[in-house]
Amino acid sequence: MKSGKCPKCGSTRINEPLNIPQGIYVKVFRLAGCVYYVCRDCGYVERYLNEHGFKLLEKHGRLMSTEPRMCSTCGAEVQPGAKRCPSCESVISDSS
Ligand SMILES: [Zn+2]
Ligand SMILES: [Zn+2]
Repeated sequence: MKSGKCPKCGSTRINEPLNIPQGIYVKVFRLAGCVYYVCRDCGYVERYLNEHGFKLLEKHGRLMSTEPRMCSTCGAEVQPGAKRCPSCESVISDSS
């Protein structure tokens, strides 16, 4: 995929690598630290670590951000490891 060819369908129409850097707040925050390659023909997605991802892996032995997270219900900042949102008390899911 990095070489520009889809391993699934053989297409060379690979989207520009989508680099998700550190500190971006999206619902799927764990995507931070990765680069995504998307095949525009079959939709296959391949993921590689970016620099930040490698650092996380080195530091924690796994790909997990230590940045504060956002509550998916109210958008409040949630500290890493917190089980509930400090603002709306929503349960923070770790597995979604
Ligand atoms: Zn493909
Ligand atoms: Zn909340």
